[in-house]
Amino acid sequence: MSRKKVLITGGAGFVGSHLCDRLLKEGNEVYCLDNFFTGQKQNVVHLLDNPYFELIRHDVTTPFFIETDEIYNLACPASPIHYQYNAIKTMKTSVMGAINMLGLAKRVNAKILQASTSEVYGDPLVHPQPESYWGHVNPIGERACYDEGKRSAETLFLNYHKQNNVKIKIIRIFNTYGPRMHPNDGRVVSNFIVQALQNQDITVYGQGNQTRSFQYVDDLVEGMIRLMNSKDSFIGPVNVGNPNEFTILELAKKIIELTDSKSKIIYKPLPSDDPMQRQPDISLAKKELDWSPRINLDEGLIKTIDYFKTIV
Ligand code: NAD
Ligand code: UDP
Repeated sequence: MSRKKVLITGGAGFVGSHLCDRLLKEGNEVYCLDNFFTGQKQNVVHLLDNPYFELIRHDVTTPFFIETDEIYNLACPASPIHYQYNAIKTMKTSVMGAINMLGLAKRVNAKILQASTSEVYGDPLVHPQPESYWGHVNPIGERACYDEGKRSAETLFLNYHKQNNVKIKIIRIFNTYGPRMHPNDGRVVSNFIVQALQNQDITVYGQGNQTRSFQYVDDLVEGMIRLMNSKDSFIGPVNVGNPNEFTILELAKKIIELTDSKSKIIYKPLPSDDPMQRQPDISLAKKELDWSPRINLDEGLIKTIDYFKTIV
């Protein structure tokens, strides 16, 4: 078996650490690069004794040199409180990170996958969202540093592909949850589970009638690997997410039930530009990658709750 060299930026984060596990299990050599802004050594500590795993502290806004066959570019804070903490840095991470990693891919002739996001659709006026939808993003809003940073990164990927023949793949990831989400990162699944396990009030923003479609992390990792291994002519962008859509209030009630919690639901103001609805159209992923999600919300939440029970 040929052992591929794979670089994962943001590899010590929530999604990245699961990708490290899976690619090592498949017999590859994995270089995990991270600046530990939202990621933690703890997420990959179980891999440190593996001779085919290397953890590198580095910031993608500065160039990086390595020999590698594939690059998964995940480095970027993903939760609104973290990406808004330093909006300029978030945009630099998306844009300069993309330029540095595309430059590396060009130099060593590596294939490179960009972790893009459903946020490129903004607060969508088309529902569910197909890849052909151009989106509805406020360029000067609270979320712009993330949304526009990711949109610019997609443009850069396309341009490196057209001008320099770099082999690219773009995946648009919809809301993903699972073990190793940061307990304080403010995303809805981790917030509600931590609150429910501690019998604290569950904080629903707005009336809780906004919707999201939640995907379990193992389904996402499968989709990422299938995309990386797909034929060179298929570059995406391709949506990867679970089309089962729930309101935030439904999610809160489900988590209270699954944790058998005494928590009460309370309502807080809805943050500005918070998308009202989100659901992926996954026809393209089904057709090109033969991919669809396998893990339903109850099953995924139970695994995630079990994880949070060990850390809170
Ligand atoms: P995360 O915050 O857990 O992981 C991001 C990782 O990138 C962290 O380890 C962080 O320390 C690292 N990082 C941030 N800035 C960096 C920099 N300048 N240099 C090097 N490393 C840096 O988030 P996640 O949920 O694992 O998301 C991973 C990727 O997937 C992100 O690019 C995110 O935009 C994308 N994504 C995630 C979701 C989701 O629901 N989880 C949805 C859409 C897109
Ligand atoms: N949300 C909430 N309570 C929380 C955290 C989030 O009601 O404690 C809402 C948030 O306003 C949004 C949805 O849950 O409508 C999903 O938020 P998250 O930050 O997880 O993801 P994103 O908004 O980026 O899709």
